[in-house]
Amino acid sequence: MKLYKNHIMKEHSNMKIGGVAKEFIEVENRDELLEILKEKENTFILGNGTNTLIADGDLETIFISLKAIDYIDDKGNGIVEVGAGLDFSKLIDYMEEKNYTGLENLAGIPGSVGGLVFMNGGAHGTEIFDKIISVEVIDENNELRKIKKENLKFSYRVTEIKEKKWVVVSATFKFEEGYLKEVVEKYKLKRSENHPLNEPNLGSTFKNPEGHFSARLIIEAGLQGKRVGGAEISMIHPNFVVNKGEARFEDIIEIIEEVKIGVKNKTGIQLEEEIIIVRN
Ligand SMILES: Cc1cc2nc3c(=O)[nH]c(=O)nc-3n(C[C@H](O)[C@H](O)[C@H](O)COP(=O)(O)OP(=O)(O)OC[C@H]3O[C@@H](n4cnc5c(N)ncnc54)[C@H](O)[C@@H]3O)c2cc1C
Repeated sequence: MKLYKNHIMKEHSNMKIGGVAKEFIEVENRDELLEILKEKENTFILGNGTNTLIADGDLETIFISLKAIDYIDDKGNGIVEVGAGLDFSKLIDYMEEKNYTGLENLAGIPGSVGGLVFMNGGAHGTEIFDKIISVEVIDENNELRKIKKENLKFSYRVTEIKEKKWVVVSATFKFEEGYLKEVVEKYKLKRSENHPLNEPNLGSTFKNPEGHFSARLIIEAGLQGKRVGGAEISMIHPNFVVNKGEARFEDIIEIIEEVKIGVKNKTGIQLEEEIIIVRN
């Protein structure tokens, strides 16, 4: 385990914004994670930080990074247990190596496996839970539990894990044979064309309201290209807020509020954030 005091958080969020955390802890296995969760309060679990906006200034939050819990344990017959900290792209690489299929539509999502499981991330009609058979979590009583998928509640970008603030330690998948390389390449290319990958961002800022696309609603409200300080509604993808260089946390918060108000006034629809915001 590694513990850093007064740790600068900017590089741990894909928005490249973040103040100074009281403590930043890297755990290497489930025992260390359990120990820390029992000992510390006001903790926040961090995967790859690709969906997390972190406040500026001094932060009382204790951040726990799971990046070192990144094992892949192949149990045979397409059953694979994966540590929550594993970069999702490494799972896709592994699937290619083993000729496993089922998650190709998600290729290019920059999160960790734990981050994707936490919010049932997905793309192009596939969600991570489509291929999961069980998840190992630490619950609100700091108990380690393995839960079968059929005993877990989840839907579009929502899981019981997120609602109950559980920690994902590992996920077990069941894959069939037949990796689809061309699907992975197609979606990676599409992302490089349709996402502002050269500027710091957190992916889709808002969930898609039922029957609508947030990006379309933002265009209709005339908000694409809108700027607040160093924050901008991306000209490449209007559901992305980008950091033009020197954006402050408050710039991002303000632009989000202005988009919510603008869309509500124009269309009557209330947008809801998909990104996670860490304040003190
Ligand atoms: C360019 C870009 C494109 C994206 N495209 C998509 C997309 O197509 N589909 C999609 O769904 N998302 C997309 N995202 C968003 C993001 O990549 C996903 O939400 C991903 O699941 C976040 O994973 P992470 O490890 O980065 O999470 P983090 O940002 O580190 O954390 C996000 C939330 O998950 C929690 N969390 C992380 N790990 C765990 C864990 N092990 N246990 C419990 N809680 C945990 C954190 O506490 C936090 O609340 C995109 C982001 C970017 C920047």
